[in-house]
Amino acid sequence: MNQDKQVYLDYAATTPVDARVMQVMLPYFSESFGNPSSIHRFGQTVESALENARLTIAQTMDCLPEEIIFTSCGTESDNLALRGSAFLARKERGANHLLISPVEHHAISRTAEQLASLHGFELEYLPVDSFGRTSAEDVACCLRPDTAIVSVIYANNEIGTLNPIANIGRLCRSRGITFHTDAVQAAGYLTLNVNSLTTDLISIGAHKFYGPKGIGALYIRKGLNILPSQTGGNQEYGYRAGTQNIPYIVGMAEALHLTQAEKEDRTELLKPLRDHLIGSILEEIPDVQLTGHPEERLPNHVSFIFKGVDGNALLMMLDMEGFACSSGSACKTGNPEPSDVLTSIGFTRDWALGSLRVTLGMYTTASEIEGFLQVLPKVVSELRKISP
Ligand SMILES: *Cc1c(COP(=O)(O)O)cnc(C)c1O
Repeated sequence: MNQDKQVYLDYAATTPVDARVMQVMLPYFSESFGNPSSIHRFGQTVESALENARLTIAQTMDCLPEEIIFTSCGTESDNLALRGSAFLARKERGANHLLISPVEHHAISRTAEQLASLHGFELEYLPVDSFGRTSAEDVACCLRPDTAIVSVIYANNEIGTLNPIANIGRLCRSRGITFHTDAVQAAGYLTLNVNSLTTDLISIGAHKFYGPKGIGALYIRKGLNILPSQTGGNQEYGYRAGTQNIPYIVGMAEALHLTQAEKEDRTELLKPLRDHLIGSILEEIPDVQLTGHPEERLPNHVSFIFKGVDGNALLMMLDMEGFACSSGSACKTGNPEPSDVLTSIGFTRDWALGSLRVTLGMYTTASEIEGFLQVLPKVVSELRKISP
């Protein structure tokens, strides 16, 4: 199979690195290779690149440079936020209660589960509606004086639903409870302004917005104290020891700057394609349901469940037809269990096993979408014929 002819419709799993991002990264692999902690000028050169990258990110998020901590990925940012807050809140004020939405990425949910099973925290799941949304009122009902941290995903990776982060943020701020949001999917399309979001901790990861894989950042509001995840040298204000990955950090800053500057244009380009996909699929294929919110969703995100269809077989058939899609979270491929996210918003196992996620990106064209719409109904009906 010629990969050039394959159509990539899985931008929520990862994105290619933007050529403009590659360009700014390259010198930091060779010419400017110093360690930013060194006193000499090899070190100084890259130290200033590091601090410029931090400043660029701070400017796009309307925060202070010292509020941005570089990590190795979105997952690590989520871990640092959750573990760091949980352990510190317990130490400082005896707080033992964790409050998360039931549709979090595994980087949050599995971390919270481990904090509960291994470290004795009390884990409670927030209510969600059938679109996977949690309201500020839902959070208000569950908040307790001993809540260590609240974590709610900004834009859901599996079902695309957006959460009212600013409302939840204002509520938590008024009660003095730490609030984290996983903005890894949101960063490509939505504001990351920390003041309008009123959020204490925000996770991002570069490879979801045309930056390199293996680099992320965590916004930590000034004055908030969290326990470092990784100890050693005093890099990253002591929150995350280890020599920084300068080329990737420089690349992430450029990617975030570009993506945030171009997000309205990308939204304008992709939203009509998204809505055309959703409308056509609902019209042309029987026994199908949209998952996630019809309007309050990422502009590049389409997700469905098909009754009586094996989701993995569907992905393989689509791949053979030249279309790369996903069944939800990339990490779940090959796993015959239905997605936790889909079952937690009320879908039965039977339906949830037939999930499909189609995510668009900056290289998606209208003709690719037409081609996909030609193929999908045929593939679904063939699979239904052979299913027991
Ligand atoms: C991809 C993703 C992550 C994990 O980010 P990595 O950089 O791949 O570790 C976390 N949360 C969400 C919502 C994601 O989409």
